Amino acid sequence: MFLKRIEMQGFKSFADKTVIQFDHDITGIVGPNGCGKSNINDAIRWVLGEQSTKSLRSGSSMSDIIFAGSQERKPVNLAKVTLVFDNTAHVFDSPFEEIEITRQLSRANNEAGYFINKTPCRLKDISDLVMDTGLGKDSLNIITQGNISSFADAKPEERRLLFEEAAGVAKYKKRKQISLHKLDRTKENLDRVQDIIDEIE
Ligand code: ATP
Repeated sequence: MFLKRIEMQGFKSFADKTVIQFDHDITGIVGPNGCGKSNINDAIRWVLGEQSTKSLRSGSSMSDIIFAGSQERKPVNLAKVTLVFDNTAHVFDSPFEEIEITRQLSRANNEAGYFINKTPCRLKDISDLVMDTGLGKDSLNIITQGNISSFADAKPEERRLLFEEAAGVAKYKKRKQISLHKLDRTKENLDRVQDIIDEIE
């Protein structure tokens, strides 16, 4: 599974439709400061479900990621980004050989839309699809400029969390936490049922 293509329109500095094609080798993106290199990385994380505008290096409202205009261009009303993955190895749990994940946001009504292979879906469907592939928005597939120094400065316990994420242990820890929480709630419910039974008897 690899990212074949990214299509952006109206996202941050990409007012016009911009398509970046990746191949199996290394792709380097070069350009002057402020030309939008890091915005590509933000676009990928946005589609994968990033909800923190701070992490996206944007203003306080999610609509700030929509192209806000420049000296030559008027603002646009819609941001749309699509990631196209090769799925011939079926790493994604889907029969399709190509998976397109799209997120869009309209300025008019702040309405968000998520799509898998052009079919509308929920953000949860995207999270579920990418969860077991190591592609989640918090995964280590994307190492940003600040990450390197924070890895180097991290305390041993924090560094251990990073190793757990890289080794794929973190997701099981998360699932364990959810299951333990459910068990606690079930135990509370059983206690309440027992109280009611005691009252009736
Ligand atoms: P550097 O090499 O300095 O790290 P970069 O190439 O990574 O720069 P980015 O940080 O990706 O550049 O892009 C910054 C540019 O994106 C700025 O010019 C900023 O004005 C523009 N930008 C960000 N959000 C928007 C938006 N909503 N509308 C229009 N332009 C935007």
